[in-house]
Amino acid sequence: MKFRIIPVTPFQQNCSLLWCEETLEAAVVDPGGDLGLILSAIEEEGVKLTRILLTHGHLDHVGGTAELVKLTGVPIEGPEQEDRFWIDSLTQQCAMFGFEQVDSFTPDRWLKDGDSVQVGRQSLEVLHCPGHTPGHVVFYDREEQLALVGDVLFQGSIGRTDFPRGDHAQLIRSIKEKLFPLGDDVRFVPGHGPMSTFGVERRTNPFVSDRWG
Ligand SMILES: [Zn+2]
Repeated sequence: MKFRIIPVTPFQQNCSLLWCEETLEAAVVDPGGDLGLILSAIEEEGVKLTRILLTHGHLDHVGGTAELVKLTGVPIEGPEQEDRFWIDSLTQQCAMFGFEQVDSFTPDRWLKDGDSVQVGRQSLEVLHCPGHTPGHVVFYDREEQLALVGDVLFQGSIGRTDFPRGDHAQLIRSIKEKLFPLGDDVRFVPGHGPMSTFGVERRTNPFVSDRWG
């Protein structure tokens, strides 16, 4: 699986384009907006979009979804259905963050822990990692040792938990019990900012490192 990060929206959210090198079938993870940038990346890489994958229902991650479906007709997979209330409140999220209004949508498939999603001949494992939002999922490519973690974990930080139904203790458990056991060598694309590895965060991230408890 190959990937390319496309920062979108004023929040510089890391939308990712993933594709299978054998079939050139691709998925866009978290199309928050700036569809021109996403469509250019698809064209430049010469890949064929076959699905949209969503980590969670926040506007900067899903704001471009309805428009991208309108243009391409591809199905939407994710997040876990506890995030339905976030997607249903897109209108309020746009007002709250000063975004232009976007259309809402309903995922074709809600994901749950242990599911897998297909990108060409490759597959990604789905891990339910609540805390930042209750229905947040992480996509994991075991072969490439690559995780797309959305707003669960960042380089040197973790996701906010001061939104409705955020839960700090649950977020810490998601990171320590679901993500870190995948191994120190796993690289991850966070929802914002630079990539890192679980090993580096385990040693140095003050919110979740072994050293700081
Ligand atoms: Zn978020």
